[in-house]
Amino acid sequence: MTAGPVQVVLATRNAKKLGELRRILGDDVRVLGLADVPAFEELPETGATFEENAADKARQAARETSEIALADDSGLAVDALNGMPGVLSARWSGRHGDDPANTALLLGQLADVPDERRGAAFICALALATPGGEVQVLRGEWRGRIGRAAVGTNGFGYDPVFIPAESDAGGDGRTSAQLSPAEKDELSHRGRALRLMLPILRRQLNPA
Ligand code: IMP
Repeated sequence: MTAGPVQVVLATRNAKKLGELRRILGDDVRVLGLADVPAFEELPETGATFEENAADKARQAARETSEIALADDSGLAVDALNGMPGVLSARWSGRHGDDPANTALLLGQLADVPDERRGAAFICALALATPGGEVQVLRGEWRGRIGRAAVGTNGFGYDPVFIPAESDAGGDGRTSAQLSPAEKDELSHRGRALRLMLPILRRQLNPA
Protein backbone atom coordinates (compact mmCIF):
# COMPACT_ATOMS: atom_id res chain seq x y z
CA MET A 1 0.00 0.00 0.00
CA THR A 2 1.16 3.55 -0.68
CA ALA A 3 0.65 6.41 1.70
CA GLY A 4 -1.46 9.28 0.31
CA PRO A 5 -3.29 9.46 -2.99
CA VAL A 6 -1.98 7.46 -5.94
CA GLN A 7 -1.07 9.97 -8.58
CA VAL A 8 1.08 10.42 -11.66
CA VAL A 9 2.17 13.50 -13.60
CA LEU A 10 1.77 13.44 -17.37
CA ALA A 11 4.32 15.95 -18.70
CA THR A 12 1.97 17.71 -21.10
CA ARG A 13 -0.26 20.74 -21.43
CA ASN A 14 -2.38 18.97 -24.04
CA ALA A 15 -5.92 18.44 -22.66
CA LYS A 16 -6.62 15.64 -25.18
CA LYS A 17 -3.59 13.62 -24.01
CA LEU A 18 -4.61 14.12 -20.37
CA GLY A 19 -8.19 13.03 -21.09
CA GLU A 20 -6.96 9.93 -22.92
CA LEU A 21 -4.74 8.81 -20.01
CA ARG A 22 -7.52 9.53 -17.49
CA ARG A 23 -9.97 7.39 -19.51
CA ILE A 24 -7.45 4.52 -19.73
CA LEU A 25 -6.43 4.63 -16.05
CA GLY A 26 -9.94 5.02 -14.67
CA ASP A 27 -10.79 6.49 -11.27
CA ASP A 28 -8.19 4.87 -9.04
CA VAL A 29 -5.23 7.00 -10.25
CA ARG A 30 -5.16 10.78 -10.21
CA VAL A 31 -3.54 12.15 -13.39
CA LEU A 32 -1.99 15.62 -13.12
CA GLY A 33 -0.90 17.73 -16.09
CA LEU A 34 1.84 20.37 -16.10
CA ALA A 35 -0.82 23.00 -15.43
CA ASP A 36 -1.61 21.22 -12.12
CA VAL A 37 1.92 21.28 -10.66
CA PRO A 38 4.24 24.19 -9.72
CA ALA A 39 5.73 25.68 -12.91
CA PHE A 40 9.27 24.79 -13.99
CA GLU A 41 11.25 25.73 -17.07
CA GLU A 42 10.57 23.00 -19.65
CA LEU A 43 13.49 21.72 -21.71
CA PRO A 44 13.32 22.23 -25.49
CA GLU A 45 12.81 19.00 -27.53
CA THR A 46 16.25 18.45 -29.02
CA GLY A 47 16.57 14.63 -29.07
CA ALA A 48 17.33 12.74 -32.28
CA THR A 49 14.70 10.09 -31.49
CA PHE A 50 11.18 9.93 -30.06
CA GLU A 51 12.57 7.80 -27.21
CA GLU A 52 15.19 10.38 -26.21
CA ASN A 53 12.67 13.22 -26.18
CA ALA A 54 10.13 11.24 -24.14
CA ALA A 55 12.77 10.11 -21.63
CA ASP A 56 14.15 13.65 -21.20
CA LYS A 57 10.67 15.09 -20.59
CA ALA A 58 9.66 12.37 -18.11
CA ARG A 59 12.96 12.54 -16.21
CA GLN A 60 12.69 16.30 -15.84
CA ALA A 61 9.03 16.20 -14.72
CA ALA A 62 9.73 13.49 -12.11
CA ARG A 63 12.73 15.39 -10.75
CA GLU A 64 10.90 18.73 -10.60
CA THR A 65 7.67 17.41 -9.06
CA SER A 66 8.98 14.48 -6.95
CA GLU A 67 6.16 12.38 -8.47
CA ILE A 68 6.19 9.44 -10.87
CA ALA A 69 5.98 11.04 -14.32
CA LEU A 70 5.00 9.95 -17.80
CA ALA A 71 5.88 11.79 -21.01
CA ASP A 72 5.29 11.02 -24.65
CA ASP A 73 6.80 12.11 -27.91
CA SER A 74 5.09 11.25 -31.13
CA GLY A 75 5.07 11.87 -34.83
CA LEU A 76 4.58 10.49 -38.31
CA ALA A 77 7.16 8.31 -40.08
CA VAL A 78 6.60 8.12 -43.86
CA ASP A 79 8.26 5.19 -45.69
CA ALA A 80 8.88 7.13 -48.92
CA LEU A 81 10.60 9.89 -46.88
CA ASN A 82 12.89 7.44 -45.05
CA GLY A 83 10.99 7.88 -41.78
CA MET A 84 10.61 11.67 -41.91
CA PRO A 85 9.03 13.95 -40.74
CA GLY A 86 9.73 11.86 -37.60
CA VAL A 87 10.77 13.97 -34.62
CA LEU A 88 10.27 17.06 -36.81
CA SER A 89 6.57 16.29 -37.40
CA ALA A 90 5.20 19.26 -35.44
CA ARG A 91 7.42 21.77 -37.31
CA TRP A 92 7.80 20.14 -40.76
CA SER A 93 6.69 23.27 -42.64
CA GLY A 94 8.94 25.47 -40.51
CA ARG A 95 6.21 26.73 -38.19
CA HIS A 96 5.71 24.73 -35.01
CA GLY A 97 2.17 23.37 -34.69
CA ASP A 98 0.89 24.66 -38.07
CA ASP A 99 -1.10 21.50 -38.88
CA PRO A 100 -2.61 22.64 -42.23
CA ALA A 101 0.81 23.80 -43.54
CA ASN A 102 2.56 20.61 -42.36
CA THR A 103 -0.10 18.46 -44.01
CA ALA A 104 -0.09 20.44 -47.27
CA LEU A 105 3.70 20.20 -47.51
CA LEU A 106 3.59 16.44 -46.97
CA LEU A 107 0.91 15.96 -49.65
CA GLY A 108 3.01 18.02 -52.09
CA GLN A 109 6.14 16.00 -51.36
CA LEU A 110 4.26 12.75 -52.02
CA ALA A 111 2.32 13.97 -55.07
CA ASP A 112 4.14 11.65 -57.49
CA VAL A 113 4.51 8.70 -55.11
CA PRO A 114 2.31 5.82 -56.30
CA ASP A 115 -0.32 4.24 -54.03
CA GLU A 116 1.75 1.14 -53.27
CA ARG A 117 4.58 3.24 -51.79
CA ARG A 118 2.52 5.57 -49.56
CA GLY A 119 2.95 3.54 -46.35
CA ALA A 120 3.47 5.37 -43.05
CA ALA A 121 3.19 4.92 -39.31
CA PHE A 122 2.29 7.11 -36.40
CA ILE A 123 4.79 6.45 -33.62
CA CYS A 124 4.56 7.23 -29.92
CA ALA A 125 7.41 6.78 -27.46
CA LEU A 126 6.17 6.81 -23.89
CA ALA A 127 8.54 7.17 -20.93
CA LEU A 128 7.97 6.59 -17.25
CA ALA A 129 10.40 8.17 -14.79
CA THR A 130 10.67 7.98 -11.03
CA PRO A 131 11.83 10.87 -8.84
CA GLY A 132 14.95 8.76 -8.16
CA GLY A 133 15.92 8.94 -11.84
CA GLU A 134 14.90 5.46 -13.10
CA VAL A 135 13.46 5.64 -16.65
CA GLN A 136 11.64 3.08 -18.82
CA VAL A 137 10.62 3.82 -22.39
CA LEU A 138 8.39 1.89 -24.78
CA ARG A 139 6.90 2.47 -28.22
CA GLY A 140 3.45 2.16 -29.80
CA GLU A 141 3.04 2.14 -33.60
CA TRP A 142 0.00 2.55 -35.85
CA ARG A 143 0.47 1.53 -39.48
CA GLY A 144 -1.39 3.04 -42.39
CA ARG A 145 -0.86 5.05 -45.56
CA ILE A 146 -0.95 8.67 -46.66
CA GLY A 147 -4.03 9.60 -48.72
CA ARG A 148 -4.14 12.12 -51.57
CA ALA A 149 -6.23 14.84 -49.89
CA ALA A 150 -7.13 15.97 -46.36
CA VAL A 151 -10.42 14.38 -45.27
CA GLY A 152 -12.22 14.60 -41.90
CA THR A 153 -12.33 17.08 -39.03
CA ASN A 154 -11.66 15.04 -35.87
CA GLY A 155 -8.27 14.70 -34.22
CA PHE A 156 -5.33 16.96 -35.05
CA GLY A 157 -2.02 17.06 -36.91
CA TYR A 158 -1.76 14.64 -39.83
CA ASP A 159 -5.01 12.80 -39.00
CA PRO A 160 -6.84 14.08 -42.15
CA VAL A 161 -4.26 12.46 -44.46
CA PHE A 162 -3.58 9.23 -42.51
CA ILE A 163 -5.60 6.17 -43.55
CA PRO A 164 -5.11 3.48 -40.89
CA ALA A 165 -4.49 -0.10 -42.03
CA GLU A 166 -7.68 -1.03 -40.16
CA SER A 167 -9.73 1.33 -42.39
CA ASP A 168 -8.34 -0.34 -45.51
CA ALA A 169 -8.97 -3.79 -44.01
CA GLY A 170 -12.54 -2.78 -43.14
CA GLY A 171 -13.05 -1.44 -46.69
CA ASP A 172 -14.26 2.06 -45.73
CA GLY A 173 -10.89 3.85 -46.14
CA ARG A 174 -11.70 6.39 -43.42
CA THR A 175 -8.85 8.66 -42.36
CA SER A 176 -8.02 8.91 -38.66
CA ALA A 177 -9.73 12.34 -38.73
CA GLN A 178 -12.97 10.49 -39.59
CA LEU A 179 -12.74 8.16 -36.57
CA SER A 180 -14.52 8.97 -33.32
CA PRO A 181 -12.21 9.72 -30.34
CA ALA A 182 -13.06 6.30 -28.86
CA GLU A 183 -12.25 4.52 -32.14
CA LYS A 184 -8.96 6.39 -32.38
CA ASP A 185 -7.98 5.63 -28.73
CA GLU A 186 -8.52 1.94 -29.43
CA LEU A 187 -6.17 1.84 -32.43
CA SER A 188 -3.75 4.73 -32.08
CA HIS A 189 -0.03 4.67 -31.39
CA ARG A 190 -0.63 6.63 -28.16
CA GLY A 191 -3.45 4.35 -26.96
CA ARG A 192 -1.29 1.29 -27.65
CA ALA A 193 1.73 2.76 -25.82
CA LEU A 194 -0.41 3.77 -22.84
CA ARG A 195 -1.96 0.31 -22.55
CA LEU A 196 1.50 -1.32 -22.80
CA MET A 197 2.72 0.98 -20.02
CA LEU A 198 -0.19 0.22 -17.68
CA PRO A 199 1.32 -2.81 -15.88
CA ILE A 200 4.65 -0.99 -15.42
CA LEU A 201 2.87 2.08 -14.06
CA ARG A 202 0.72 0.03 -11.70
CA ARG A 203 3.82 -1.73 -10.35
CA GLN A 204 5.49 1.64 -9.70
CA LEU A 205 2.40 3.10 -8.05
CA ASN A 206 1.66 0.04 -5.87
CA PRO A 207 4.95 -1.67 -5.09
CA ALA A 208 4.40 -5.12 -3.53
P1 IMP B 1 3.81 15.79 -29.95
O1 IMP B 1 4.20 14.42 -29.54
O2 IMP B 1 2.59 16.26 -29.24
O3 IMP B 1 4.97 16.74 -29.92
O4 IMP B 1 3.33 15.68 -31.46
C1 IMP B 1 4.21 15.80 -32.54
C2 IMP B 1 3.49 15.99 -33.85
O5 IMP B 1 3.28 14.71 -34.44
C3 IMP B 1 2.12 16.64 -33.80
O6 IMP B 1 2.21 18.03 -33.87
C4 IMP B 1 1.47 16.08 -35.06
O7 IMP B 1 1.89 16.81 -36.16
C5 IMP B 1 2.06 14.68 -35.13
N1 IMP B 1 1.18 13.69 -34.46
C6 IMP B 1 1.45 12.99 -33.34
N2 IMP B 1 0.41 12.20 -33.01
C7 IMP B 1 -0.54 12.43 -33.93
C8 IMP B 1 -1.87 11.92 -34.11
O8 IMP B 1 -2.40 11.11 -33.34
N3 IMP B 1 -2.53 12.40 -35.17
C9 IMP B 1 -2.01 13.29 -36.03
N4 IMP B 1 -0.79 13.81 -35.92
C10 IMP B 1 -0.05 13.38 -34.86
